[in-house]
Amino acid sequence: MLSTLIYRSRACEPMSADALDGLIRQARARNASLNVTGLLLFDGVHFVQLLEGPAQSVESLFDTIGRDARHKSVVRLLRDHGPFRRFEGDEMAMVDLRDLAVTQVASLILEKMKKQARLAVSDDRVIKILTWYALARDTSHIVEGEDAANWRFVADEGASSEPCLQPGQTYQFALQPIVEPARRAITSFEFLIRSQSGGSPEQLFASVPPAQRYRIDLESKAFAFRLASRLCLDDIKLSVNLLPMSLVADPSAVDLMLDQIAGCGLSPGQVIVEITEQEAIVNQRDFGAAIERLRRAGIGVAIDDFGAGFAGLSLLADFQPDKLKIDRKIIQNIHADGPRQAIVRAIVEACAALGITPVAEGVERVEEWCWLQAAGVERFQGYLFARPALNGVPAIHWPQRTPPH
Ligand code: C2E
Ligand code: MN
Ligand code: MN
Repeated sequence: MLSTLIYRSRACEPMSADALDGLIRQARARNASLNVTGLLLFDGVHFVQLLEGPAQSVESLFDTIGRDARHKSVVRLLRDHGPFRRFEGDEMAMVDLRDLAVTQVASLILEKMKKQARLAVSDDRVIKILTWYALARDTSHIVEGEDAANWRFVADEGASSEPCLQPGQTYQFALQPIVEPARRAITSFEFLIRSQSGGSPEQLFASVPPAQRYRIDLESKAFAFRLASRLCLDDIKLSVNLLPMSLVADPSAVDLMLDQIAGCGLSPGQVIVEITEQEAIVNQRDFGAAIERLRRAGIGVAIDDFGAGFAGLSLLADFQPDKLKIDRKIIQNIHADGPRQAIVRAIVEACAALGITPVAEGVERVEEWCWLQAAGVERFQGYLFARPALNGVPAIHWPQRTPPH
């Protein structure tokens, strides 16, 4: 099976003409042995390379390339399959962008392509990506995170817990902070439901009859607010998750929540409801009305798991939330992933235009955080900073600059 891969990267050091020649000679020999053909664009700093050939050869070559110390910030831009090679017979066509006027670039790339490929050019994703990067010479379209090696993560001593369950307590909650590391600030705690024995939300909801799920979802929040009050979290925001239908199924849902909040000596302005759309919203009108009631009461709203499952663009268009939590599936490996970078940059821009705070969920790696910071995301949740703690506040790992060697 023939596959095509395009990536971009940055040279670690300025490259002399000789060094570039050497690199190309070496790459051509390697590509020939793997039956790989392709194209390299270089502007003196950035590489954009296309590799095409048998899927396995392309993947293993890309793996090797990722470990090459001569470049860094390797970001995959495209992985595709097709019926023919665009650069048949050429182990590595080279376009040195420094020698070219902007108007010459597209035609030179075209010239290097086979006739067959040139015919399909007007809507060929490959040629569009190549010319987009080749023409955008100012490189302001490239976001690169800081070097992960500049940072180490050090746990604070903030942990505290409330281990014993209260009599009659049927549900427990694990707390995970949402942080703004640039200010070393905790912006809120998310309350994640657990069963009496500590089981996950999934296990818990699977074990109750569907007809009771929404009621339980709603009623369980009383335990979350009580825990917040016992942990003296009275001057920090508290995020709770609710299925959209939990707000709709019971017409007095919002009033019930307001009673729970007041009963624990907390204030509605402290509370954020995260709408977890694991199921489609059946009745848009009732859901809209419930959101309105939450807003009128002063409760904040967040769209959870944005970009996964049902939490799509129309939800954002219909209900502008205070926060938009970008799902882990979009965040994972973002520092090396072109499609995810393009999506998150668009989300960040849309959030800025709408006055919404974006939050990156499920951040596990320093590299992910570095890239997200560079792209303008300021709020984070994930194991990198803290894992959820059952009935308590976990220690938080804060980034500290490593001293220069
Ligand atoms: P969520 O609201 O997106 O919560 C984040 C989930 O991701 C939590 O899983 C958390 O433990 C996990 N997580 C956080 N950081 C990381 C990370 O860096 N890597 C990975 N791999 N995972 C991370 P948890 O507690 O199992 O909750 C799963 C989902 O269950 C929640 O996703 C939420 O949708 C739902 N849920 C939790 N509590 C409630 C609730 O009270 N009501 C309802 N309806 N749903 C709830
Ligand atoms: Mn959530
Ligand atoms: Mn989520």
